[in-house]
Amino acid sequence: MSPSLRAIPGTQTTPKSLTVLGATGSIGQSTLRLVEQHPERFSLDILTAHDNVEALAELARRFSPRQVVIGNEAHYAALKGALANTSVEVAAGEEALIAAAAAPCDFVMAAIVGAAGLAPTLAAIQAGRTVGLANKECLVAAGELVMRSCRQSGATLLPVDSEHNAIFQVIECNHNDDIEKVILTASGGPLREMDAQSLTQVTPEQAVAHPNWSMGAKISVDSATLMNKGLEVIEAHHLFSLPPEKLEVVVHPESIVHSFVHFVDGSVIAQMSPPDMIIPIAHTLHWPERHGFDAPKLDMVSIGSLHFEAPDHARFPCLGLAYDAMKAGQSMPAVLNAANEVAVHAFLDKRIGFTDIQRVIGQTLDSSSPQGYASLEDIQSIDAKARRIAETFIT
Ligand code: NDP
Repeated sequence: MSPSLRAIPGTQTTPKSLTVLGATGSIGQSTLRLVEQHPERFSLDILTAHDNVEALAELARRFSPRQVVIGNEAHYAALKGALANTSVEVAAGEEALIAAAAAPCDFVMAAIVGAAGLAPTLAAIQAGRTVGLANKECLVAAGELVMRSCRQSGATLLPVDSEHNAIFQVIECNHNDDIEKVILTASGGPLREMDAQSLTQVTPEQAVAHPNWSMGAKISVDSATLMNKGLEVIEAHHLFSLPPEKLEVVVHPESIVHSFVHFVDGSVIAQMSPPDMIIPIAHTLHWPERHGFDAPKLDMVSIGSLHFEAPDHARFPCLGLAYDAMKAGQSMPAVLNAANEVAVHAFLDKRIGFTDIQRVIGQTLDSSSPQGYASLEDIQSIDAKARRIAETFIT
């Protein structure tokens, strides 16, 4: 087991205090759905968002947290005004977000999307908190820094991503040394069966229409390009200290098996559940206990059969680009992540086509060389440079 993934003995007797970074997003909302189901188990300390004042104010009125933080400082007055008749404290800006992440509480849900989540998530880790990690981009961009900070502060990192949560549930009861390989499953996304020519014409609406999972726009596009699986392979590499050659991907369109762990003695242990993020979120929130809730249940008879196939690297080259960046190491995964964010936003804004995403990432990687990093500032400067390079390929 990775040193940061350590067990905490004991049974919860008082409500857990929670901070939810990215409360207005898909993971944030699912987290709050669980809190709503079990108000006796949780108390909300801080909720954050970036631009969505209306949604954050609505959550503040519904859940009465101690504080809300809006990342974009320009919205401070609007949020303050919206909560004028409440006792909820209001703060704004990047520094307030970082302070919120580090503030004392029992559990921080790190659910900001993209590299923007790195500084606050790192602040929570450096403060030694128990962190539910949904924000995979922070591990992709700064895996060594994040894991080193975990070891130094004694923070506990609980993977929220369904595949990593599955692997964690298996590894928790076994030994890392006995693992032969880990296979992450991928749904294949909404474009799994589309031919190469048709992929060039895909619209943002088609790309975000995921058949199994309801998610934010960015991760939905990542899922359609298979970059999401590439980011997840890098995430698993850091979380579970596994080398690239022990990490594989298989396409599994039903999204019922969330990962397989192959052991040296020929045993394979998989974790299964319906494709609903509320299940891995509940696992992390309650960990190390398990509690029942109004969860969707798995009915294997009605599912009937499960299917598995190899990923098609020719039609979906982003997965291969992620493996290349992981193997190159150092700054290259951060470059990959930054280029992907730039390309996905350009695609969602209809400035480039769907298959241009892979082109922009490939060109940005080709224009960059690996460099070491030691601090958050180093990563931020690598990220900013990669974004500038990627923008030059948005044509
Ligand atoms: P969403 O886009 O739905 O939500 C993103 C959240 O982050 C919102 O609260 C948003 O605030 C906030 N945010 C956006 N930009 C910034 C910024 N610059 N600074 C601070 N906060 C910001 O994303 P998801 O919930 O889908 O995903 C969140 C993370 O979880 C991602 O890293 C994703 O890869 C990961 N994940 C998501 C899964 C899912 O099922 N959705 C599954 C597994 C992992 P606002 O609303 O104000 O813009």
